[in-house]
Amino acid sequence: MAEFRQNNEDSDQQQSSSGGRRPGGGFPSWLLWVVAAIMVGQIFFYFNSNNAREISWSSFKREMLVSQDVDKITVVNKEVAEIYIKKEKLGQGPYASIKPSEAGPHYKFNIGSIESFEKELDEAQQDISPENRIEVEYVNRTNWTGSILAWVLPLVIIIAIWMFILRRMGGGGVGGGAGGNIFDFGKSRAKLFEKGQSNVTFDDVAGLEEVKVEVKEVVDFLKNPSRYTRLGAKIPKGVLLVGPPGTGKTLLARAVAGEASVPFYSISGSEFVEMFVGVGASRVRDLFQKAKQNSPSIIFIDEIDAIGRSRGKAVSLQSNDERENTLNQILTEMDGFGTNTGVIVLAATNRGDILDRALLRPGRFDRQIYLELPTLKERKAIFLVHTKGLKLGNDIDLEVLSAQTPGFSGADIANVCNEAALIAARQDKNAIEMKDFYDATDRIIAGLEKKSKIISEGEKKVIAYHEAGHATASWYLKNADTLLKVSIVPRGRSLGAAWYLPQENVIYNKNQFLDRLCAALGGRAAEDVVFGQVSSGALDDLEKVTKQAYMMVAYYGLNEELGNISFYDSTGQYEQSLHRPYSEATAEKIDEEVRKLVENAYQRTKKLLQDHRTELEALAHLLLQKEVVFQKDLETIFGERPKEEEEVPVSQ
Ligand code: ADP
Repeated sequence: MAEFRQNNEDSDQQQSSSGGRRPGGGFPSWLLWVVAAIMVGQIFFYFNSNNAREISWSSFKREMLVSQDVDKITVVNKEVAEIYIKKEKLGQGPYASIKPSEAGPHYKFNIGSIESFEKELDEAQQDISPENRIEVEYVNRTNWTGSILAWVLPLVIIIAIWMFILRRMGGGGVGGGAGGNIFDFGKSRAKLFEKGQSNVTFDDVAGLEEVKVEVKEVVDFLKNPSRYTRLGAKIPKGVLLVGPPGTGKTLLARAVAGEASVPFYSISGSEFVEMFVGVGASRVRDLFQKAKQNSPSIIFIDEIDAIGRSRGKAVSLQSNDERENTLNQILTEMDGFGTNTGVIVLAATNRGDILDRALLRPGRFDRQIYLELPTLKERKAIFLVHTKGLKLGNDIDLEVLSAQTPGFSGADIANVCNEAALIAARQDKNAIEMKDFYDATDRIIAGLEKKSKIISEGEKKVIAYHEAGHATASWYLKNADTLLKVSIVPRGRSLGAAWYLPQENVIYNKNQFLDRLCAALGGRAAEDVVFGQVSSGALDDLEKVTKQAYMMVAYYGLNEELGNISFYDSTGQYEQSLHRPYSEATAEKIDEEVRKLVENAYQRTKKLLQDHRTELEALAHLLLQKEVVFQKDLETIFGERPKEEEEVPVSQ
């Protein structure tokens, strides 16, 4: 899904600059330097100031105490005795190395316990007259540097790690939205588009005429609310855009932003939920608060299914409480703001079917707009928009291009146009030709041609018959799609491919389904008919066939045995819970019927290919020779395609 262009200044930063807060977050760096300098100074001072020499008790007694050189003894913290030598004794005799100006303590030693120290000191001074005896002074001294280091250092380290983690989570620190500030992780990360910042208009959205009418009304609600409120009408609170990927939901929202000229907050559903519990709900609150402050405004939540999934029975099995809290908060906020507050919530999803019903009830997303894949006419309009800036050759026929791109979304078409331009540029052309568009379409459908892929002759033959089988089967089945071209040039992961022009039907009947099953089985059946054995190359076909057969039997009620029953669940509840809504016996019956259906289709295809073996062989040979075969070559081999009215027997 297309990303919104990132706004240079997001809402949070705007807020922080107006509030005078430093965008870097945390405390200023000069303060950190001052603290560090003081600490280093203290440490230096501590080590320098305490340069008393270590001495043992016995040498202290023998050399200093007995000779009465000691001026005073200070016991610090009941641990260390600091010895001060009399000033007049310094600089001579055993103290020659100590300058008389040195204040002391000059020596120190560990005392062990106070009791033993006092006892020993008394004993040592027995012979000294009482007036000359040394008194001991006891002091308690706190080592501030050590304490600060012991407490502050781990704290500083923890804070540093914390800041680092938060910044990493915040998407790259300063400027990365709310994560730029460590305390902002609960703030919404919505990007704010101020008036005139989105230059997309409704003219850039091609087709989707009905949708545009509805969405334009939203713009009108915000521009002229009185037009509606004077008649007592309530302005809708939420508009949900539902549709397959690439159909232009985000583009429409951008157009709304461009045209409404009101603040537009854009956020993706997944951005609400993060590692922390409670962040989602807090972000929702913050987002709605900001939007209300700046009303009239629009909130756009892209991919709302990330949080708005229906809360199924199996919730306890998954850890999605956080998502549920976020969803509840959205519901509360949407209920909370009265009608006509001037805030409209736009949301987009590819999966409208799995959204929680609570979200869809009136009063919340009371408008649901469905976007479909573009029709032929719309595709042409989208081609027109996207070829506007391109240098096109004279042979370009957008009519043909739009006819040959059924099932393409707007995003696919935009991609085709760009790819065609790249292909033309690669060949140094002056203008983009029709062939470049064809190549681009092929490339988008099937991937890049891999001409260098080494395939043995034997394998190539199998591939040619396989593709010829698809082509032959679909040619003779009147309900199968029209074949455009067949190729055995390997592309992407596939070794060969057949291009069809799908019918743009909204509903299919049973015969149409059956014919499509047979066409899909054509490749494998051809291998069987020609070589008498099958290869692993039909994986994709078989996957498609199996899925379709299950859908026919279990969803569409197209099987007589099971009757008019569908186990399809539009609420997605069964998908989440672990049990099936039917009995074991029914499950067996479904499996049996699916198997029967596929087997019958296979036999029918085989028979058809046996009947048209000559054409099959002819096409396979042509493919081996030319690698790519177009519709007109097919017509020379097969003749006219069976007309719609012709009834081809359908066995079941
Ligand atoms: P979605 O949100 O539905 O998945 P986007 O809006 O992101 O799809 O569409 C992706 C791109 O496809 C757009 O940026 C635009 O270039 C192109 N596109 C899709 N629909 C249209 C359209 N109706 N008209 C023009 N361009 C379209």
